[in-house]
Amino acid sequence: MTRREALLYSIGLPAVAQTRAALPGAAEAGPVRWTPHPVFPGAPILFRSKTISGTATWLEKTIEFRRDGAGFSALAGVDLDRKVGKYPLAFGDQHMDVVVTPHAYRSSVITVPDRFVEPPVEVQARIDEERVFRTKVFAASPAERFWNGAFTAPAPTRFTSSFGVRRVYNGKTKSVHQGLDYAAAMGTEVHAANAGRVVIARDMYFEGGLVTLDHGDSLFTLYMHLSKFLVKEGDAVEKGAPIAKSGSSGRVTGPHLHFAVRWQGVYLEPSTLLRLW
Ligand SMILES: [Zn+2]
Repeated sequence: MTRREALLYSIGLPAVAQTRAALPGAAEAGPVRWTPHPVFPGAPILFRSKTISGTATWLEKTIEFRRDGAGFSALAGVDLDRKVGKYPLAFGDQHMDVVVTPHAYRSSVITVPDRFVEPPVEVQARIDEERVFRTKVFAASPAERFWNGAFTAPAPTRFTSSFGVRRVYNGKTKSVHQGLDYAAAMGTEVHAANAGRVVIARDMYFEGGLVTLDHGDSLFTLYMHLSKFLVKEGDAVEKGAPIAKSGSSGRVTGPHLHFAVRWQGVYLEPSTLLRLW
């Protein structure tokens, strides 16, 4: 086991993640470099360039290369359902091909109270309202960057369940797990993964106590199942700032912190985001 593998093992990364831990990226021949290397479905990507700034196109989405140290960078990602293959990153009249390689995600079976699998009719209006609210928040991200530098873990603990795991709830609802579950005893302090604006700090039916940070350019981090809020909607927060206490509210099997990363409408693998720098 190399030192890096030993480190990853000690923070509880699943075996599947260790095999692609050969980060950061090899040299690409061209003006843009990226991590991780290789790129895979569900991966966040940090594109970096010494010379390319402004607008680029990636997987039918517009991304912005903004000033970052001596050069420029853009944070993007690959949706989990993306087929493997070669996709262009287009800027000006140039492009570079990025290869998306296969990645194995696991399956698991979960048991939660029935009211979360088949919500009672009296909460349907609430669920609908929350969906509308969420959609509005995700559509309102400004075209600017609030984050700076590496994203940091929201809790100093192990994470126990991987992003992308296909879950069967109570033998019925099937869904894909769209975040990481950090082991967190009730009341563990939760920290902002990077600088941003608090756009959600309220109780939701499925998420329980939910804080959502907008990092700009349609990049969000989400913190779920909280027991206490330490920030309110509209607050600006710095990287590492305490934002909440963990709990066991919403659709859970026990106390933990669910941490998710959303970029331009898709959820990305959080532990990779934490290792891009
Ligand atoms: Zn979770």
